[in-house]
Amino acid sequence: MRSIKSVYKVGHGPSSSHTVGPYRAAKIYKNKHKDADSFSVCLYGSLACTGEGHSTAKAIKSAIEDIVIEIDREKTDLKHPNTMVFKAYKSGKVIDESTIYSIGGGSIRFENNDGDDFVEIYPQKNFTGMLKTCKKEGLSLPEFVYKSEGEEIKDFLKEIWHAMESEVERGLLKEGELPGGLKITRKAKLLNERRCYNESPDVTMNRKISAYAYACSEENADESLVVTAPTCGSCGVIPAVLYYMRHDKGFPEEEIIDALAVAGLIGNVIRTNASISGAECGCQAEIGSACSMAAGALACLYKLNLDQIEYAAEIAMEHHLGLTCDPVNGLVQIPCIERNAVAAMRAINAVDLSRFLYETRKISFDDVVDTMYKTGKDLSEKYRETAHGGLAALYGENK
Ligand code: SF4
Repeated sequence: MRSIKSVYKVGHGPSSSHTVGPYRAAKIYKNKHKDADSFSVCLYGSLACTGEGHSTAKAIKSAIEDIVIEIDREKTDLKHPNTMVFKAYKSGKVIDESTIYSIGGGSIRFENNDGDDFVEIYPQKNFTGMLKTCKKEGLSLPEFVYKSEGEEIKDFLKEIWHAMESEVERGLLKEGELPGGLKITRKAKLLNERRCYNESPDVTMNRKISAYAYACSEENADESLVVTAPTCGSCGVIPAVLYYMRHDKGFPEEEIIDALAVAGLIGNVIRTNASISGAECGCQAEIGSACSMAAGALACLYKLNLDQIEYAAEIAMEHHLGLTCDPVNGLVQIPCIERNAVAAMRAINAVDLSRFLYETRKISFDDVVDTMYKTGKDLSEKYRETAHGGLAALYGENK
């Protein structure tokens, strides 16, 4: 399994597979063909269907300014739902043609080739294998990560954490309409500042966590800089939970870094053995994964044992199974923004259940990851980031 660095990437929203991945693909392709004098790219599958709302062309053009971009919505026999075919030209002649897949979370893979961040770090194949090693060697999950990846990974995680904090803080200050034409106004500031009369501590906690999730997701929808966690569309869940624990509950930064290491490990297992791409497996792969990662992180922060951490991550994923991806107008706004807040609160509930019931569980985390992948493959393509079904279709009919 690769480094947990492959889960967290800083890039411009609104979609890790539609903006961060294509931007990185274009940049890498251009660097590989320095002798070319012009470029073109054809977008297929989900990139063709929702690329417009997700600003794919803008992201590619920010890497290769004068590239010709074509869109093909007809081709269906694709090896991956997010496919791009780049061509490099010299004096009008094609000197290279490469198929590149945007495989989710901002990662890319060249056809017949490995990805751009391929470094095997973990010999374990799944979460069960990792827990076995931890139990045998008497390691906590963060210690296992630091032992496997080296202490330097802490500096990387610190940078990621600071980027997440900045995302929340920028989002809490802004007001006004989000781009794209749905006339959605930002709500994070309002949620953060408006207290209900006689508000109970529980309601305050939910309101604050939701405000932080909205802040990140609104920044993402506005094409600002966000951290994939594990994707742009689901970027608000982990920061919301951890920002609340750091700034409202006073957990020290070092423990937040440990929690991010655990979340990274969980995301890495999902990414390796299933998918974190909405285009491949629906929203269960994005929001479900983010919720699972946040639950594992929080359980680690609360110093729960290894089995409780695993169970928290399992519960969080299990109750997102089958969740469809149906972004209205192909924008990462409805249902995405609200969904981040709901998933952040659900992560907290998952941890509360795991604390008490972990000894009675029947389903392992690896089982639920496997099930999520199979369920995703069974989902109609209408519900895999094409904006052809669900809320997206309903909105289109009502318009
Ligand atoms: S519905 Fe979920 S998977 Fe689809 S774009 Fe929104 S956040 Fe991403």
